[in-house]
Amino acid sequence: MIRLVLFDIDGTLIRSGGAGVRAFKEAFASVFNSTQATEGVSFSGRTDHALLRECLTHIDTVMTTENVTRFFDAYTTLLQELLEVVPGEICPGVEDWISSLKTLPHQPEIGLLTGNVRRGAELKLTRYGLWQHFYFGGYGDDHEDRNRIAATAFDRGAKHLNTVLRGDEVLVIGDTPHDITCGRAIQAKVLAVATGAHSMEELTPHRADWLVHDLLRISPAEICL
Ligand SMILES: [Mg+2]
Repeated sequence: MIRLVLFDIDGTLIRSGGAGVRAFKEAFASVFNSTQATEGVSFSGRTDHALLRECLTHIDTVMTTENVTRFFDAYTTLLQELLEVVPGEICPGVEDWISSLKTLPHQPEIGLLTGNVRRGAELKLTRYGLWQHFYFGGYGDDHEDRNRIAATAFDRGAKHLNTVLRGDEVLVIGDTPHDITCGRAIQAKVLAVATGAHSMEELTPHRADWLVHDLLRISPAEICL
């Protein structure tokens, strides 16, 4: 039985219409004065801190605490502005999925497992009216490595449930191979959805426990009971 469900954000709960990537690139350009460093970088499924480190490497700049603070202050300011003007959406089936989880006989806890820094996660989900569902999670400012963010989300979930939790009692839902890998890292079950940057064909070789076009195609009861 699933007792904890951990959701990825981008491409899984919402599509921000590119607001996240645009905010990242514009913040980097304004803080570090380089538009080149973010070109050609693969954003999908990555953690915010890993992305920042990669871009800083391109301009031979050290990732100091001061640089991290300056960047994420600029990023979250821009993100909030862009989320208001860039058209995005909630991914298909998400709201019904969350409502259905809350009506299961043994209602699982729900949390986040995301590469977004916590403030970025809050801004994105607040914009689409989903933030109030999530009381805890693992975020991009907990660790640079997504597998370690998964371990943090797992520990916080166990604390929230006030129990010892087994990996196979946890469900990770995400849209990239990175989500599947980090779910495996905590021995969780993984539901992959093709609502983000990756198609069904691209996700198939990564062997999630379930792979669906979107959350309309499977119910929480089919997985969690
Ligand atoms: Mg994602």
